[in-house]
Amino acid sequence: MSTERPFANVPNKLWIGGEWRDSSDSSTFEVLDPGTGDLIAEVASASAADATLAVEVAHAAGEKWREVAPRQRAEILRRAFEVMIERRDELATLIVLENGKAWEDAVGEVNYAAEFFRWYSEEAVRISGRLQMAPNGDKRILVFNQPVGTSILVTPWNFPAAMATRKIAPALAAGCACVLKPASDTPLTALAVAQILHDVGLPDGVVNVLPARRSGEVVGTMLRHPLARKVSFTGSTEVGSVLLKQAADQVLTASMELGGNAPLLVFESADLDVAVAGALVAKMRNGGQSCIAANRFIVHAAIKDEFAKRFSAAMSALPVGHGLDKSAKLGPMINPTAVSDMASIVGKAVDFGAKTLIGGQPIDRPGSYFPATVVVDIEPGNPILDYEIFGPVAPFITFESEAEALQLANSTPFGLASYVFTGDTGQALRIAERIEAGMVGVNRGFISDPAAPFGGVKQSGLGREGGHEGIEEFLESKYVAIDW
Ligand code: NAP
Ligand code: MG
Repeated sequence: MSTERPFANVPNKLWIGGEWRDSSDSSTFEVLDPGTGDLIAEVASASAADATLAVEVAHAAGEKWREVAPRQRAEILRRAFEVMIERRDELATLIVLENGKAWEDAVGEVNYAAEFFRWYSEEAVRISGRLQMAPNGDKRILVFNQPVGTSILVTPWNFPAAMATRKIAPALAAGCACVLKPASDTPLTALAVAQILHDVGLPDGVVNVLPARRSGEVVGTMLRHPLARKVSFTGSTEVGSVLLKQAADQVLTASMELGGNAPLLVFESADLDVAVAGALVAKMRNGGQSCIAANRFIVHAAIKDEFAKRFSAAMSALPVGHGLDKSAKLGPMINPTAVSDMASIVGKAVDFGAKTLIGGQPIDRPGSYFPATVVVDIEPGNPILDYEIFGPVAPFITFESEAEALQLANSTPFGLASYVFTGDTGQALRIAERIEAGMVGVNRGFISDPAAPFGGVKQSGLGREGGHEGIEEFLESKYVAIDW
């Protein structure tokens, strides 16, 4: 592709208090197209001083925002939904360029991201409290649900629009102002979302966005600020655990959406066409770079060969290419390191006795491409079962009994998504009850929905995003004891 910069006019500065600003020390960093390696933008890199300023600006704006009528907050969110949909192609192009996902995935992400604004426009007017008589009759107990306060939001690169709106929308609906620190691989989409919120009339300073290469310093400064009240993080378990420790110093409320290692169970009674189609979505959305990506295929021994054959055919049929080529279904990985990680993960699995049915080696073309890969003959103990693969690689392990399938599924410190394909509804529900995961897809591979509580158990996180649960993360109860 050419070296021209189609997004030379896209916002590329810090967004603080309703103004585009340079970093206090004028530093910048580069954003690259993972599909070509080309430079797409130079972006301001926030400093610790910018971080302090952003928290103070958010705090001041938040004092007013919490007093804005819920209906008015809702209408701003509703307009943000509408404008995001109007700008769908522009935003999808930006996502493709900085993140690399296939066009269809990018359009799907814009729709999904916009839906958080619509959903939370509807939740903003449904925040209630409670009144009850104390058990011994000596007083009334009145409970208010109030905004938690200035919120620090930190997001990953894999869904640059949706991970931002999934936090911003409930924060705004609840009456909280925020500072968002997007991933440094993909800061541009978050800046475009800030522009939309400004265009639909969100008061200055309620949402601030700080792109930064110095993530640790910038986020650490904000979490130490005495005006910060909450941290909401999406990213790896490793970084989440660091931020939880920092949050503990100020006793900040914390919501954590962390890594996954999703099992995908296929029983012999499953409709194999449904299972192949569902497994393809569960594995390959966003090229496998998703926290809920199917990571361990646990397949009944009686159907393993047939399922692996059909699944490999479906994987091989995905056209590979740059996301701006709309026929491509598998785009590049986020960066060259991700490609070498895939090759190393597959190589170690093979050293341990596994076999690749398709793929396994990086694709020789400019940009960061790795092919759809299926690895079979995995035995328990193979290291591939312990990684969050985060790419287009599907390892297969087999089982004989339901108990064994469940035991394999739960043999991980993670517990985000899981998938079950079976023709037996009772079995599906038994598994759903016993599996250690925050989410279970039954006979389907696509589970994300703004109306549903998204989140994990074990080392996959704390709290939920989406659904009614998502707004509760930004509310705090206050109890009033009354004699009247
Ligand atoms: P990451 O490395 O943990 O980074 C996430 C965010 O934290 C980025 O904004 C990053 O900034 C920032 N960060 C990195 N180190 C930091 C530090 N020491 N202090 C403060 N902030 C820091 O994750 P990623 O590689 O972007 O994303 C992939 C991970 O996210 C996977 O594990 C995936 O499962 C998880 N994820 C989870 C969910 C969920 O809902 N549970 C959804 C999507 C992704 P820089 O970009 O500048 O490093
Ligand atoms: Mg990272």
